[in-house]
Amino acid sequence: MRPDRLNSLFASADSLKGVGPGLARPLEKLGLTRVKDFAYHLPDRFVERRAVADLDEASVGENIVVALTPLEYRSSAGRGPLRVMASDGAGNVCAITYFGRNGGWAKKQLPLGEKRWIAGRLDQFGQLLQIVHPDHVSEAGDTALGQLVEPVYPLSEGLSQGRIAALAQQALAQAEPLPEWIEPGLLDKMQWPAWRDALVLAHRGEHAAARGRLAYDELLANALALLLVKQSNRSRVGTPLHGDGRLRGKLSLPFALTGAQRRAIGEIEGDMAQTAPMLRLLQGDVGSGKTVVALEAMLLAVEAGAQAALLAPTEILARQHHETLSRMAARTGVTIALFTGRDKGKARESILMGLLDGSIDMVVGTHAIFQDTVTYRNLALVVIDEQHRFGVGQRLMLTQKGKRIPHCLAMTATPIPRTLTLAQYGEMDVSRLDEMPPGRQPIDTRVVAIERLGDVVGALARHLEGGQQAYWVCPMVRENESADLAAAEARFAELKARFGEAVVLVHGQLRPEAKDAAMERFVRGEARLLVATTVIEVGVDVPNATLMVIEQAERFGLAQLHQLRGRVGRGAGKSTCLLLRGETLSETARRRLALMRETLDGFRIAEEDLELRGGGELLGTRQSGDSAFRVASLEQIQRLLPIAHQDAHLLIERDGGLTGERGEAARLLLYLFERDWGVQLLRGG
Ligand code: ADP
Ligand code: MG
Repeated sequence: MRPDRLNSLFASADSLKGVGPGLARPLEKLGLTRVKDFAYHLPDRFVERRAVADLDEASVGENIVVALTPLEYRSSAGRGPLRVMASDGAGNVCAITYFGRNGGWAKKQLPLGEKRWIAGRLDQFGQLLQIVHPDHVSEAGDTALGQLVEPVYPLSEGLSQGRIAALAQQALAQAEPLPEWIEPGLLDKMQWPAWRDALVLAHRGEHAAARGRLAYDELLANALALLLVKQSNRSRVGTPLHGDGRLRGKLSLPFALTGAQRRAIGEIEGDMAQTAPMLRLLQGDVGSGKTVVALEAMLLAVEAGAQAALLAPTEILARQHHETLSRMAARTGVTIALFTGRDKGKARESILMGLLDGSIDMVVGTHAIFQDTVTYRNLALVVIDEQHRFGVGQRLMLTQKGKRIPHCLAMTATPIPRTLTLAQYGEMDVSRLDEMPPGRQPIDTRVVAIERLGDVVGALARHLEGGQQAYWVCPMVRENESADLAAAEARFAELKARFGEAVVLVHGQLRPEAKDAAMERFVRGEARLLVATTVIEVGVDVPNATLMVIEQAERFGLAQLHQLRGRVGRGAGKSTCLLLRGETLSETARRRLALMRETLDGFRIAEEDLELRGGGELLGTRQSGDSAFRVASLEQIQRLLPIAHQDAHLLIERDGGLTGERGEAARLLLYLFERDWGVQLLRGG
């Protein structure tokens, strides 16, 4: 149970003043559901603002505070933005621009004819001066506007900087000081502030020591939890599995395994023969052939008289895996079921029965395969595909299913650098597929300026006429969701006008059924062109799709670009990836795109990505979901993780578990970072 002293931090967000149902959704999007989340919602950066008397004093690109009087609302049809035309009193007109569906809200904030103080970045749109989504709008005399250095928080639509800042301050006020879990010598050497002070400082301004301490806390929590898992796993009992090869011998493979695949299979076989449950990560770039390795492991389990389950992150992927496995294992006679949350009634019952009585040997599905209502006769192997979508805690819960702890094989296509493997997967053994199957056609990657859009569409037309399929990807980020969505929809409309019904659109705001239906049409080849936001990142396999166009490629991270590009180059045909870039590029963006052109090697891209981002890239450009960490930046992970690991070892192994004053404090830390499954293992083990 969570210690009482953390209760106020874990209280739900609506216990904060000013959080009603209206804010729930935007806050949830940012992962802000409890008080502590606000305390840890750290500013991306700080801006200096200049108060100007009128727009003549300001230059384009500058962050300003200026008094403006709204004159007129201009909205265009459809999804276009709302522009509030406003005057500065010196004869200049400036548009205050809102994208998305918050027009009503904007009009309420900006009544016509009434002067308001606007804080935001002055931009230019054609001849028009504009401020897009201002950070603050207030009647004169607001204190936030007097502040010349202010935090800039990650936002989602429907939230303002002022709102978030006020909530963060409330959350901080509720945080009591906690006992120290960091080793005193280290604290001293690094000149780190105490936990609560560090939080306060990190919201107030650039403060490297405060940020460092908070990052270290997270890394230490993670290191402790991973060590606890490893320790407990060592003492657990699984089922040693020995296969005789009778099923694996009947696999219908149209190819010979690569050396890397054979090596990985050997390592897995070795693990599964042990009493201690396997905890292995299979890391291999997109297309390196992880599926067949998983199948070999699953067949081994069945040969040994047990069942195996494969967990996929999405329904589409589950279905694809089911098809692939069924095809490859057709002559083995094993029964492979597909089970997703959508199965209802009779179909569902019959699968549940089959898993219970053992007539189903293998099941492929989404997390539905681990619901409480699902009971296995003898589940001995769990394979988890696209590992990074699931947290370690969740994964552990899953593997508690069988009477005995099943062996666990996790697969990921995210080629994280070696230094980070330890951080993210410290408790697992790793097999790497570092060799591509032979005969792959290299993907021809080119960087093309957006001005040449016409040529690109022409090339696309020839491509589609040739009978092949293509992807067209548009960026989509949380901070800019409605504008991005509008842009994606506009592009879709244009392409549809040109290519007709063969074009489908998939984006994150579609209902899952609609998304799946569109994907299905593309997978079956009825749709020829898939326009998408980044939702196609993981796993989809359409060999006939050999052209990938990525719009505003400079806005994507390298890892993401690499994953996206991996959607093509899957068949025998030659594949092309066109990276469309905007007019102005930062130096880092330029190097990123150049690297994409230069290499197809995911591991190399991952290493260089780390370097490029480590070199002082703004924290705000970090992508969510590419790291197990919310607080620590890549640079901090590299610098501080080895120390955290060493310290965690000392705390757990030398001091015999988390006892004593520091040990108790460390337990608080584990709860704070929700690695409390680590504490539970400690108790149980
Ligand atoms: P991923 O690692 O991305 O999951 P897959 O398992 O989907 O990769 O494999 C990608 C493609 O490569 C599939 O079409 C698969 O049949 C093929 N493949 C896998 N192993 C080999 C091999 N050793 N030789 C040739 N093709 C292979
Ligand atoms: Mg795969």
